[in-house]
Amino acid sequence: MKKYDIIIIGGGASGLAAAIAVKKYSDFTVAILEKGQRAGKKILSTGNGRCNLTNCRIDNDCYNGERTLLGRLSSDIESTEEFFSEMGLACKKDDQGRVYPYSMAASSVLDALRFTATAKGVDILCEHNVSEIRKTKSGYEAVCGAEIIKAGSVIIAAGGCATPSLGSDGSGYVLAKKLGHSKTNLYPALAPIRTDINLVKALKGLRTYAKASLSSEGRILAEQTGEVQFSDGALSGICIFNVSSIAARYVGKAEIILDIAPDFKKKDISYMLFTTKETRSSLPCEELLTGLFHKRIGQSVLKNASISLNKTCGELTEKEIYRICDVIKEWRFPVTAVSDWSLAQVTSGGIKTEEINEKLESIFAKGVFFCGEILDIDGICGGYNLDFAWKSGYTAGKNSAEYIYDIKG
Ligand SMILES: Cc1cc2nc3c(=O)[nH]c(=O)nc-3n(C[C@H](O)[C@H](O)[C@H](O)COP(=O)(O)OP(=O)(O)OC[C@H]3O[C@@H](n4cnc5c(N)ncnc54)[C@H](O)[C@@H]3O)c2cc1C
Repeated sequence: MKKYDIIIIGGGASGLAAAIAVKKYSDFTVAILEKGQRAGKKILSTGNGRCNLTNCRIDNDCYNGERTLLGRLSSDIESTEEFFSEMGLACKKDDQGRVYPYSMAASSVLDALRFTATAKGVDILCEHNVSEIRKTKSGYEAVCGAEIIKAGSVIIAAGGCATPSLGSDGSGYVLAKKLGHSKTNLYPALAPIRTDINLVKALKGLRTYAKASLSSEGRILAEQTGEVQFSDGALSGICIFNVSSIAARYVGKAEIILDIAPDFKKKDISYMLFTTKETRSSLPCEELLTGLFHKRIGQSVLKNASISLNKTCGELTEKEIYRICDVIKEWRFPVTAVSDWSLAQVTSGGIKTEEINEKLESIFAKGVFFCGEILDIDGICGGYNLDFAWKSGYTAGKNSAEYIYDIKG
């Protein structure tokens, strides 16, 4: 029977960071139990294969959920870049403050983590699917099929439910439940938002710059500006992803309002359209908007403003021009759903924060720590989720090592 001081369930971003931190603070034996064939599979898919590992501006307002968790992160890790620089990984940032490995290859990040962990003596045991964590007289034991692995302390870094094809399938919550923990409602986040298919059918494949406001019962819940993509029955793109965590909580009661000309005031647009009506008076009315938008977007705007495409620009009435302006500045798409887990990049919601102390330790099972996406916090796009994974993993690893010091005397 294998026995370690500390075992870590899950060899993803937070689990690998936790293992490295354990070894930074102690010489305790540590093993990562990873159910997949290799650790860190998800890391390779992040940032379109480039791994946006942190952001120059890490701010509480970039997170949804229990932001108090951010205050529990160890101050020993000053920045994610410093954490990786100690592992020999150079980083660079883009013009929006997103930080990537200098190689722009996610494999460099995974290599840095794996090489460091193995050099420090961490055992990475793949194809070890943990189905239960049991309390024993001297600590805990993890059940992996027929194999039992014992440890003094356990770190649960099993991720959430997002993109199960990359490993995390929600089984971490089951392990936690058996130890007495409960979870909040879980929602897919950083995911496309589904809407009435008839509203987006003609726009499929197009992108436009827009301000996207998530609104419910006249209240703006979130606002983001950027590129919006229209796909089969859904809106996507970074600014849509960034409001999806909140939208998931208001399905059927919210709408996305797109302002597809955010750089112009409504009066400027109406001025432009009245001018174009005169200069293109004999042309079909769909030519009214071709100076502003892709032709198909213009056609859809006219359709949504209930304008007959048989008219010429000159035949448009003043009321019709104002209706067109309304659609341009406030194009409404009901939120019918947020895409399922297979398309979600993160999980919104998680293990209830009140059941975890300041050290990210279970209040029910002393010596059991949590880190990463399993916790009730999720960030917007831009490196915030990985930043939390590294830092919470590091914190859990450090605190788990201190816990073993305490019990070993
Ligand atoms: C396509 C995609 C792109 C993304 N891009 C970015 C990005 O560029 N920047 C960013 O900040 N965030 C990004 N994210 C989000 C980020 O990857 C996650 O938030 C982060 O990886 C979470 O880390 P974690 O360690 O908590 O969980 P995970 O990385 O999901 O790791 C959990 C691990 O635990 C293992 N596991 C689960 N259950 C068990 C069990 N019972 N026994 C043993 N092992 C188990 C899983 O196989 C998995 O390897 C992206 C996510 C996706 C899906």
